[in-house]
Parts: sequence; C-alpha cells; structure tokens
Amino acid sequence: MQDKQYLMIPGPTPVPPAVTAAMSKPIIGHRGDEFARLHKRIVEKLQRVFQTRNDIFVVTHSGTGALETAIANTVSPGDKVLSLITGNFGERFANIARAYGAELIAVEFGWGNDVDLGVVEEKLKEHPDIKVVLATQNETSTGVVNDIAGIGALVAGTPALLLVDGVSGVGAIEIKVDEWNVDMLCVASQKALMLPPGLAMVTASEKAWEIINKNQSPRFYFSMPAYKKSYEKLNTAYTPGVSLFYGLEAALDMMLAEGMPNVFARHALLTRATRAAIKEIGLKLLAEDRCASNALTAVWSPEGIGADEIRKVAKNHYGVAFAGGQGILKGKAMRIAHMGFCDKTDILVAVGALEMALARVGYPVQLGAGVRAAQEVFLGRS
Ligand SMILES: *Cc1c(COP(=O)(O)O)cnc(C)c1O
Repeated sequence: MQDKQYLMIPGPTPVPPAVTAAMSKPIIGHRGDEFARLHKRIVEKLQRVFQTRNDIFVVTHSGTGALETAIANTVSPGDKVLSLITGNFGERFANIARAYGAELIAVEFGWGNDVDLGVVEEKLKEHPDIKVVLATQNETSTGVVNDIAGIGALVAGTPALLLVDGVSGVGAIEIKVDEWNVDMLCVASQKALMLPPGLAMVTASEKAWEIINKNQSPRFYFSMPAYKKSYEKLNTAYTPGVSLFYGLEAALDMMLAEGMPNVFARHALLTRATRAAIKEIGLKLLAEDRCASNALTAVWSPEGIGADEIRKVAKNHYGVAFAGGQGILKGKAMRIAHMGFCDKTDILVAVGALEMALARVGYPVQLGAGVRAAQEVFLGRS
C-alpha cells in the first residue's frame, strides 16, 4: 500500500492547491456585505462558464440535491415527464421525477449509447402534453456525452421544459445554456469544477420560472422561489457552505484564466490520449468515438478478468484509484476520469499503472504500449 494517491474517479476529483488555500480563509458571516460581494462575483463568473444570463443559484447540496431541486420546482403530481435515459444517472433523474408523482415516459437508449434525436422528436409529437424533458449531458456511468444542443432545439418548439443533468460534464465539456435552450441546468462542485463535494448549482430560464411559480409539489429546503427572494439581497436562503464559496471563486478564476476554449481542448486531448492508450493495450472502450465523453473513459475489462480485481491492484500497489462499473456494468467495466484538475502527466501515470495492474492479474499486456500511444498523442504525432 503506498501513501501517495492518484484520484482518477469521476468525483470527487483532485482539488488544486490554489482552491484548497482559498478555502482555508477565515469564515465570514453569510448575511454581511463581504459575502454578498463574493456571491455576486461567483454568479457572474458561473454565467460565463455556463454561457447564460439566466438566474443561477449556488446551493449547499450534492449533485442529486440539484437534480431534486429542479424536479421539485417543476414537476407537479400527474405531469407527463419524458425521461431520456442512457445509464445510471439518467435512471436516477427519472426516479426523482417518479418520486414527485410524475407520469413517466421513460426511454432507454441502452448503456453505452447516446440519445437518438429521432426518438425524442417522435415522443414529443406523440405526447404534446409533456411538461418536462430530462436529459443527461455527460452520462458518468458509461462515459457517453449526449447532444444537448440537438435535444434543446426539439424541446424549444414545445411548451415543455428541458432539465439537464450537467453534474459531471460542465467544466469539461462545453454547454451553452441560452443558445441551446436549456431551461434548467444542474451542476455539482466535486466533478469538473475542481472543488470538494458540497456545493451545487441550478439555473432557471424565464420559461422555467413560469412553471416554478405555479408548481404544486411540496418543497421547503428545495424551494426555488425562496432562493430567488434571498438572491435579490445577494443572500442565500439558508446557511451556505461558505468555505466552498471561497474555493468556487478560486476554481472559476483558474478556469477563466486558462480560457474556457482551452479548458475544453485540454479535456479533448486527454480523452484522445486515454482512448489511444486503451486501444493499444487491447482493451475495449464502452463508448464509440462518436459519442465519447471528454470527462471520463469507460473501459470493458478483458475476458475472464473482473474489473474490480484490476482496480484493486492499481489502488493497492500503485495508489491509482479508478472507478468501478455501476448498475449492470458492475464488475465488468472500469472508468478512468480525466476531468477538472487533470493534465497530460496524470494520464501517463494512470495508463502506466493500469498496464502494471493488468500484468499482475495475468493479462498479456505489452508494457509501455499504452503509455507510448498516449505520449504520441501528446507530442502531436498521432
Ligand atoms: C455524480 C453525479 C450525480 C450525483 O451527484 P451526487 O453529488 O453524488 O449527488 C448526478 N449526475 C451525474 C451525471 C453525476 O456524475
């Protein structure tokens, strides 16, 4: 067991030293001017990252709390909800809607596939009374990215709202909330935004507010009208995670200094190198190139070797943590995250450790083949 750890899981992710340092500042009261100014700056910076002029609420929830906030404020019992499911997190979003009494139209596209826009168009036509559409930007269980622009264009032509789970995608993969007609976007701190767990963000369009204000579902801690009333005074309805607010501003400053196009290009490059390495090692990728996520890469474990066995060796002998498969992929796949505070050398470490772990569990790996493939990508030779 080695002490030095390399966290390559899709949340929580490594936190940059500048963010940790910012979070160690003395606590301030959240009803004072200093917090109000910090809050205002954060919302303005988030609007740049999310590409929106809509309201943004920074809430002290986990990602699931953001999803529940979006549902609790828009889904009234008996409402028709179209749920576009591409894996575990799409299922969770649907389950939250079900808990709030939705009449669910759940469409399963299969784990490893992305949303088929033709099917979305068909369902919207078939059920013109759909109130809410649920989509996942980056399906963390399979490493698939969905076409939110395409879904948004279809939903915008209907009275329905588009709610997007961007928990693990935003910050790694571009999202244009306004241009793509995303009525509500849900994000969390501990994925590509490079913070510890504990904060989440929810946006709301004008179209969303019309529904939120009429919503019949019971809600208290998740009440968005309460969030809005407090935000008008640059306050939060309840005590926020003040230290995480400091950290959030530091993380946003890092991203904006790098430049959002560069942040997205870095994630794309890390993905290309990871996928090249996995192919060279001889393992199979879960997602096709067409819909592969730039935030994480899901990999099938080789015939006859359990994914969890490989992960255990990588963790115990080399300190590298990969994530396991979820749901139907349990034991069969593993996930390598390359989101947030992640760079080229992290990928070389991950691939090198994976090769050694595979060798130890008896997979015939040619040592260095994957590392070399990644290096070739980074040197611009492939
Ligand atoms: C991590 C994740 C969530 C859940 O977030 P929690 O912070 O664990 O509640 C939801 N959706 C997606 C896509 C995620 O990756």
